[in-house]
Amino acid sequence: MNANGKILRNLSDLTDAGFVHTDKRAALENVAARYAIAITPAIAELIDHADPSDPIARQFIPDPAELEHDPAESPDPIGDFAHSPVEGIVHRYPDRVLLKLTHLCAVYCRFCFRREMIGPHAHALNASALDAALAYITAHPEIWEVVLTGGDPLVLSPRRLQQVVSRLAAISHIAVIRVHTRLPVADPARITPALVRALKARGKATYVVLHANHPRELTPAARTACARLVDAGIPMLSQSVLLRGVNDDTTTLGELMRAFVACRIKPYYLHHADLAPGTSHLRTTIEHGQELMQALRGRYSGLCQPIYVLDIPGGHGKSPIGPNYLTAEALDRYRIADFNGDFHCYPPPK
Ligand SMILES: *Cc1c(COP(=O)(O)O)cnc(C)c1O
Ligand code: SF4
Repeated sequence: MNANGKILRNLSDLTDAGFVHTDKRAALENVAARYAIAITPAIAELIDHADPSDPIARQFIPDPAELEHDPAESPDPIGDFAHSPVEGIVHRYPDRVLLKLTHLCAVYCRFCFRREMIGPHAHALNASALDAALAYITAHPEIWEVVLTGGDPLVLSPRRLQQVVSRLAAISHIAVIRVHTRLPVADPARITPALVRALKARGKATYVVLHANHPRELTPAARTACARLVDAGIPMLSQSVLLRGVNDDTTTLGELMRAFVACRIKPYYLHHADLAPGTSHLRTTIEHGQELMQALRGRYSGLCQPIYVLDIPGGHGKSPIGPNYLTAEALDRYRIADFNGDFHCYPPPK
């Protein structure tokens, strides 16, 4: 249906591709006016037209529910603005900063936590702002790691990425350059040998963190793209967002984690969905997330266990949110749950 290899960027494209029915289109005009749309051929091919609740469609096809705003939601759900000393930098933790190089992504996720700040109409970081951001990092010797994020930093050309990576690598106190991306899934062909080379810097460690939410996203082409990074000596980690109707059942979540591990990607974070505007239809409860985590433990390899985290609104950072296995039941006794949910006693040290 989308064999022509075109990126779908608006409602006409989505209607032509058969993803939006003509009679539903009017209801989506206001969504499209507000939030960016992009679906690459690699993602479009994954969508099952016959399934009205397709988990890939739910992540990328606009939904009229995006106009329903919950009062708890915020345009800056994780408090980036509160910790931005200069444009493009978020410095919330002492030893690491985010560097937002671009506001563009290859695909736009309907649940994106930065949906109010990204997209083709967002303000981009220009050359002098980049200079100022790098000067900030240089002036702060406590910064050990720089996380390139956005947007999706890998949409930049290998030439531009290499420039940024080599400027970061020239800062002596920077040991680790970490890249947060969805590109190996969204557009695997763009993980070229030139791009992989651009990410590496002599004497510094580069890590790539892949954002994917459903096992079907790890297609053969996506796996090849990840293998290119890992074979080049770049360790990979994963991050996923827990999404209602996408990955909120044990089998889907477990198979997603297995797909990562089989690709030599260590599961890192499972994010509780942030309070981004118009995303309540995609959020689960925290209790449900904890049940899923408990179900993974013991039934799936220890390598397949991510950390379930909540980014605390207001800019207070990420905290693990369970499940909690250990409780101090009495002065002489802990109570510890096993993976089946059965409880056992454990004595504290004397
Ligand atoms: C998520 C985040 C990081 C990275 O956190 P880790 O726990 O190291 O993965 C760093 N800075 C900010 C502002 C973040 O939101
Ligand atoms: S790829 Fe990341 S930044 Fe881009 S739309 Fe998706 S969640 Fe947002």
